[in-house]
Amino acid sequence: MAERIYLSLAHMSEAALEKKYMNEAVDTNWVAPLGPNVDAFEQQLQDFFGKPVAVLASGTAAVHLALIAAGVEPGDEVLTQSFTFCASAHPITYIGAHPIFIDSEPDTWNMDPQLLEEAILDRKKKKGRLPKAILPVYLYGMPPKMDEIMAIARKYGITVVEDAAEGFGSRIGGQIGGTIGEYGILSFNGNKMITTSGGGAIICPSAEARERALWYATQAREAYPYYQHEAIGYNYRMSNICAGIGRGQMTVARDHIAHHRHVAQLYKEAFGDVDGITFHDELPGMESNFWLSTILLDEKLKVKGEEQAYTKPIQGAVGGAAGVVRGGDAIHTDCEPNRNVEGLRLTLSAAGIESRPLWKPMHRQPIYQTSLKSVAYVNGVSESIFHRGLCLPSGPMVSDEHVDMIIRCIKDAI
Ligand SMILES: *Cc1c(COP(=O)(O)O)cnc(C)c1O
Repeated sequence: MAERIYLSLAHMSEAALEKKYMNEAVDTNWVAPLGPNVDAFEQQLQDFFGKPVAVLASGTAAVHLALIAAGVEPGDEVLTQSFTFCASAHPITYIGAHPIFIDSEPDTWNMDPQLLEEAILDRKKKKGRLPKAILPVYLYGMPPKMDEIMAIARKYGITVVEDAAEGFGSRIGGQIGGTIGEYGILSFNGNKMITTSGGGAIICPSAEARERALWYATQAREAYPYYQHEAIGYNYRMSNICAGIGRGQMTVARDHIAHHRHVAQLYKEAFGDVDGITFHDELPGMESNFWLSTILLDEKLKVKGEEQAYTKPIQGAVGGAAGVVRGGDAIHTDCEPNRNVEGLRLTLSAAGIESRPLWKPMHRQPIYQTSLKSVAYVNGVSESIFHRGLCLPSGPMVSDEHVDMIIRCIKDAI
């Protein structure tokens, strides 16, 4: 097969506006982490989200600055979702604070509100003070149960940072993801809903909060003719070149979301009557952007190719454009997807189709579980889903014909 089908690839606007705005930046010598594209992109985001937005170098940087904005300091505890990409947790450690991992509920796969409240009460009892922030995640675009999470946050007076890096444009009732908590996080990495090649944003509660985030993103410089520093800052601003791409991408953001939802609908219909495969659907009243469509395989399901699963060490990164991974000869860990899941991944891969296991829960990652001995409040849900789940190709580069082929390949394999 000539063409590989990838999980989620960047897709430029038909009019190639990205190129126009990038070229403008070069032609006018606005090749800097500020300029007309940055201003225009921020304005588009502000119009989309209805709140002040600062664009940044990455979503990870946005998480870091949101935690600082929430007042997180060394030694503090932050309640984050265990079932997520590492960038929901790593920035907590940048501050010298401690992630407290909260497991998921089975409906949305996101932060379990009941466990969240149990954790808050238990931390209060053990530490004599409350955690500083709560960081729920829009996993694969699926909105978390924000109503319940916000009610708990208000009850205990804890700041909420929504990690909507995967949830650009997802909605709960009329509300758009990332605008419900005090702060919201977006990512414009190459594989996300819209891209700037690499980038992110922080959605802020006020113009002052936005200014302050940008001040931290600009090395926390005081107003003097020379460089005067009274706080530690970071170099986290977005380049005017990247913002040019973002400006073009915003013209197709709604089309991208509609396409991801369309692809999800095709998978949902196709797997609706297949024994042993469950499509992960949205709850009534919620609208996922279906950044990635995901399925669960029943552990008893036999899949062609599962004899090949875990027989050879992996070369390079599986999924994503990440070129650099540390090599090794190990094949197994003590927490890995079931054989049939890995078998299906290999079968799809041989047919030129990229798929990927779900995010491995943070409370099972050696860095947090073994090295940092992070506290986790678990119910087994995320681990069980991780063992059974697979992400399927979902972006605007995935056509109806591609989806047909992927579905056929999966049905043939089972
Ligand atoms: C992608 C992602 C981030 C971080 O975004 P980058 O732009 O890659 O730094 C944070 N949280 C989640 C859940 C993500 O998927």
